[in-house]
Amino acid sequence: MTEKLESVNPATGDVVGVHTIDTDAEVQAAVARAREAAGWWSALSFDQRKVVLDQWKGVLARRMAQLADVVHQETGKLHGDAQLEVGVAIDHLGWAASHARKVLGRHKVASGLLMANQAASVEYLPLGVVGVIGPWNYPVFTPMGSIIYALAAGNTVVFKPSELTPGVGVWLAESLAEVVPDHALLQVVIGHGETGAALCRSGVDKLAFTGSTATGKRVMAACAENLTPVIIEAGGKDALLVDEDADVAAAADAAAWGAFSNAGQTCVGVERVYVHERVYDEFVDELTRRAHDVHAGTDADARIGPMTLAGQVDVVRRHIDDAVSRGGRAVVGGSGSPGDRFVQPTVLTDVPQDSSAITEETFGPTVTVSKVSSMDEAVTLANGTRYGLGSTVFSKARGHELARRLRTGMTGINSVIPFVGIPALPFGGVGDSGFGRIHGADGLKEFTFAKAVARQRMRPVMALTTFERTDKTDAAFASLITALHGRATQLARRPRRYSGRVAANAISGSPGVIRRGLRGVRPASRSSSTSSSTTGSSIR
Ligand code: NDP
Repeated sequence: MTEKLESVNPATGDVVGVHTIDTDAEVQAAVARAREAAGWWSALSFDQRKVVLDQWKGVLARRMAQLADVVHQETGKLHGDAQLEVGVAIDHLGWAASHARKVLGRHKVASGLLMANQAASVEYLPLGVVGVIGPWNYPVFTPMGSIIYALAAGNTVVFKPSELTPGVGVWLAESLAEVVPDHALLQVVIGHGETGAALCRSGVDKLAFTGSTATGKRVMAACAENLTPVIIEAGGKDALLVDEDADVAAAADAAAWGAFSNAGQTCVGVERVYVHERVYDEFVDELTRRAHDVHAGTDADARIGPMTLAGQVDVVRRHIDDAVSRGGRAVVGGSGSPGDRFVQPTVLTDVPQDSSAITEETFGPTVTVSKVSSMDEAVTLANGTRYGLGSTVFSKARGHELARRLRTGMTGINSVIPFVGIPALPFGGVGDSGFGRIHGADGLKEFTFAKAVARQRMRPVMALTTFERTDKTDAAFASLITALHGRATQLARRPRRYSGRVAANAISGSPGVIRRGLRGVRPASRSSSTSSSTTGSSIR
């Protein structure tokens, strides 16, 4: 008997779709179809693929409201927020389709002095079939970060959406099938965790996972059985830093949006704020005022919707209770904020840095605000979790410096989460937030393998890879390497004066010739180089 999966609107409890769960055999069959389609798709030129992807982009753009409605139905998020994620995904699709050739197409690279007789080139070839496992919080934008870039790189995709948002996955696959009805470029497999695990074991050529760190570890373990490479886009505990010279009102506005939008169910949402003591009180006032304006519900004034995953309400409640019981102060909301399915915004101050509200991903409309005496302290505390996904800095003078010191994959300076809307920027984390990158040139390359080709243009002056190599060649080779690399200090300082002559002489002949060629090279001054005294002596 076939098993069914009901998709439920979390705001109303209405069943909005019923889907058949795919068995292991059906997952395998989908991957087999994808492999067949990959033969056709990968043989097309970048320009031909761009035509198809542009057509799909047009369909998505024209039906944006319809797709946003499916997202709204399955996640409960506001229609405008759903449209925002769809729109940004469409923009990524345009970028990936337009840039794939430039990033991945064959290009020449210098063959180097040792192999000057070779013409060298590299191109990035598609892997074949990519499996994508997605979460429910941004059911379009997040998986599309993998799907779009995998397709643009010439792969086909089998996508397992979250069990909470199967309808969104089906909608996406059907919309591409309208453009390309005869080839299974994007298929959806439906089910719970077991279906995802089946996809991991199905022999796909790469698996792109987005979800929690705990599930990411299970995905890696399953993929390891076949040595299937993985990308892990996992959770976060993102911090926002406010420097003493920051625009405090703008920082508070960004913190409110970053913490509460999408009911806090954002992997790069703001969960912690570190504020310089000189502007702390002002910031808390500004944030408090804004937080009071946000409420969760289904009425026309509601700014955020329900918690999509029912169990997440308990996590939010546990974090708030832990913070408050250990001396934290709820200046907005508090223990009463989490309701049955809707959670009202909470702002916590004076929370101990080892409480769960600071160390664990909350994934709800809750934010902690901590006072710091310096931005050094802010950086240290911000880097104090195992996560490292995104971060935000508000500072007029020190934005880039502070951003660089934050151990996260992305940082926004003076605005919140801007990097998600810039397709050229890579997206991904470090530590428990995962590894690998989607978006941008890095995101395209993730779904390829580098193909290096060297073509002999002429016979080499020094025949190195032959059993007919002579002692004279060995000596010339040794001298060449010493000449090129043995005096790195001097060469780095004066490359133009002698490097060409050294090279030419070295290639053309004997150590004697090389020695004569190097006569114009001045030895390193004793004070500036000690290492050259041994390595460089043979060629003086
Ligand atoms: P989960 O880890 O619970 O699930 C993610 C996906 O994995 C779902 O499709 C799920 O299926 C599937 N899955 C569950 N068990 C397995 C398994 N054993 N093998 C293979 N797949 C499995 O995450 P959520 O859906 O709850 O998403 C929220 C999490 O995602 C948060 O931690 C958030 O931070 C993170 N996230 C990270 C992003 C990033 O880019 N770094 C972006 C968005 C979210 P099912 O739903 O059917 O259980």
